[in-house]
Amino acid sequence: MDQNDLGTDIEKVLVTEAQIAHRLTEMASDIDRDYQGRDVLLVGVLKGAVMVMADLARALHSPVRMDWMAVSSYGSGTKSSGVVRILKDLDTDLKDQHVLIVEDIIDSGLTLSWLLSNLRSRGAASVEICTLLRKPEAVKVELDVRYVGFDVPNEFVIGYGLDYAERYRNVPFVATLAPHVYQ
Ligand code: 5GP
Ligand code: MG
Ligand code: MG
Repeated sequence: MDQNDLGTDIEKVLVTEAQIAHRLTEMASDIDRDYQGRDVLLVGVLKGAVMVMADLARALHSPVRMDWMAVSSYGSGTKSSGVVRILKDLDTDLKDQHVLIVEDIIDSGLTLSWLLSNLRSRGAASVEICTLLRKPEAVKVELDVRYVGFDVPNEFVIGYGLDYAERYRNVPFVATLAPHVYQ
């Protein structure tokens, strides 16, 4: 899929397919270096992190394990509240595991700070965060994010796993939508 397939839906491409691919290889080599010799469990947060997980995992040289969680943050509209419910839990016991959470985007950071303490309480040896995108709001919360792909402006973005009403997840780049899409 490319921009031509989307008619007038896209307002602005913020991160191209090539930029994502290049940055993920850089992040993967940082991860390979930092976890040298240790067994890593990648934990993807459904559904947004599917694309990041698939491409990041294949850019790594180390054979990692992968597991998935689905959470929903209660909150009105597009803002998350920090009250999180587990919709699908991990299949893996985290005791003594080195866990790397793989996320699509951090906005308020509320979902992730909840997830971080939840996973830490299960006895993991370490829990770190890797996100493709980060919005400016995220710097306000006390959240130590080890790996960040790109900082993006405070706008609603879609593509590369990120949806608007479950659509646009398969757009291969990250973009903002034209106002007519929301109307
Ligand atoms: P937070 O708890 O950090 O505010 O929100 C985290 C989740 O909200 C992300 O994992 C993502 O699913 C969703 N989200 C935040 N910002 C955006 C955005 O700009 N576009 C889309 N599609 N989802 C977003
Ligand atoms: Mg997410
Ligand atoms: Mg969504």
